[in-house]
Amino acid sequence: YRNQDSDAAIRLTDSDAALARLSAVKKGYMQDPFIKHLIPRAHLQPPRPPLINIGTYVRSEAIDNLIDEWLEISCQDGKKCQLVSLGAGSDSRFWRLATGPHKDKLAAYIEVDFPDVTTKKAMALRKSRELSAILGSPEQIKISHGGTALHAKNYHLLPVDLRLPPSESLATFLAKPLSDNPSNPILSHSLPTLLIFECVLVYMSPEASSALIQWFVDYFHQGSSSTVAGGHAPLAGIVYEMFGLRDAFGQVMLNNLKSRNVVLPGAEPYPTISSLPHRFLKHGFTTCHALSLREIRRHYTNHSELKRISSLEMLDEVEELNLVLEHYGITWGIKLPDASDAASNLS
Ligand code: SAM
Repeated sequence: YRNQDSDAAIRLTDSDAALARLSAVKKGYMQDPFIKHLIPRAHLQPPRPPLINIGTYVRSEAIDNLIDEWLEISCQDGKKCQLVSLGAGSDSRFWRLATGPHKDKLAAYIEVDFPDVTTKKAMALRKSRELSAILGSPEQIKISHGGTALHAKNYHLLPVDLRLPPSESLATFLAKPLSDNPSNPILSHSLPTLLIFECVLVYMSPEASSALIQWFVDYFHQGSSSTVAGGHAPLAGIVYEMFGLRDAFGQVMLNNLKSRNVVLPGAEPYPTISSLPHRFLKHGFTTCHALSLREIRRHYTNHSELKRISSLEMLDEVEELNLVLEHYGITWGIKLPDASDAASNLS
């Protein structure tokens, strides 16, 4: 699966995601003062069609809301949390969180992507005064692994191909202590942890995706005996992905990807909204839910927001918007301490 061309095409999907976000921000769908610093020549980038702006808005707000809720529930009474964004690309979420109401709750925010992508991001971070000021003072920002990794006070950017066996790749970064803090690995065993898979698992085989999630489950389970009294730290996850690709519109989406040289590996493991929670349930998660972006827009977006959004630009293709939105899902789940036995019956 290490085909250079298709890997390059997969990496390019990051530009699509970042440009869509920039466009939605410029059009007033949402606020993000940081994304422009992560995109070369941001001021020259043309807007994306209304359909893309709306989809980006619905997805982004929904994930932000889930993360806010998780931070509120998991980090009470001064407790800190850690977030790991897998396939983070040019995402700006760390900077939004680090300047928002939950900023004091972030023990660590870890971003992982292909080395080519992390190298570019590390360069953009060092170049931007606005972004690096939020990472910490210049002495707190360290580049390693030939410019492919960056470490700051509570932010880490790590170069890993997530398709490789996690114990040989991801673990060499996450489970290893930093030189200036030899007693603690980058990923603490004992803090509530949220995994974010925003549009990345679709580019990996179902086996590689499962191995990745299972590695995190085992990591916290192994850590539990020595570090956390009464069980492992709660692990939560959010997945945003395409699904339902076997129907006619799904085929159109696949052909669109193929025309850009993006070939999805393996059969779609969770083809319906009701099957999506099994991404997490089969790894012993305690509870898990999934909604399509269409359901989120219709039933979980408040009326005044919908009105505000619909006044921003003309949308001719309402039917097409619904078709697109019903092919994207957000799944979220949590694995509470000591639930592994009960939930393993589901696998
Ligand atoms: N999560 C970001 C967002 O939503 O804005 C970026 C999404 S972009 C569509 C997919 C990202 O996943 C790209 O940055 C790509 O390089 C990364 N990715 C895909 N497969 C990967 C792999 N095997 N290992 C590491 N990163 C991967």
